[in-house]
Amino acid sequence: MAHKGTQHALHWWTKATGMLLICGLAACASSAEPEVPLPLTVDESVAVTVQVPPLSELLGLVEPANDTAFLEIPSRQSSRSGLFLRREACEAFVAMHDSAARTGVALTALSATRPFGHQASIWNRKWNRPQAMGMAPVERARHILRFSSMPGSSRHHWGTDVDMVSLEPEDFLSGEGQRALEWLRSHAAGFGFVEVYTPDPDRPGYQPEAWHWSYMPLAGPFLDAINAAQADGTFPPFSGFDGAHTADSLFILDHYINGISSTGWNPAGGL
Ligand SMILES: [Zn+2]
Repeated sequence: MAHKGTQHALHWWTKATGMLLICGLAACASSAEPEVPLPLTVDESVAVTVQVPPLSELLGLVEPANDTAFLEIPSRQSSRSGLFLRREACEAFVAMHDSAARTGVALTALSATRPFGHQASIWNRKWNRPQAMGMAPVERARHILRFSSMPGSSRHHWGTDVDMVSLEPEDFLSGEGQRALEWLRSHAAGFGFVEVYTPDPDRPGYQPEAWHWSYMPLAGPFLDAINAAQADGTFPPFSGFDGAHTADSLFILDHYINGISSTGWNPAGGL
């Protein structure tokens, strides 16, 4: 699986590198445009290997502000400071944001990399809400899992996923949110971003999240690494937050981590 994932990433790299070369000098570092034209295509023989981080990082043991593999999303593309993505994902997001902005669409980042501790604080707050107290543990977890991940299982740990525009589903049904979603569904794939939590009724796991987009050139191999760890028994038990004992009965790995769109990611044929 890991080898296959790397091939997937290579495909995406060769598809996306022209864009990255254009924006890479300016993205995430300065707002200046490159002064000289840069090549639109790249020699496909250029070998690029995706560095899959240690499993511990994919489970949320990351400190984006102190890790040179991450870049902070600049203020003009984000709602607040302190939003980080892995370098390649950040550069692609900035390029995508600016491309959309030129058509009047605002793809403002609202949330990006979230370490385990951050996710655990979200989870524990929801777990201990008064209205959740009457529920059995599995039902309480399932209720939270409509929109929030168990700590250790969130794609936001990976540094590849970003929430943008709005966190309210109804905001995407009309007006600016609807236009942003239409733009993303038409153009995001060209920047490597995929809608993973689609409205597909056959997809298990989380409710649809129109705001959540994933940078697949990295996230694809990262998911492969997690599934390989599950297969060889090195994926650790969930722990360190309230209700962690419910993880197995809810099939967190199969139904949630892998509960993503089956149609949005097709490395062999594009999107
Ligand atoms: Zn999200």
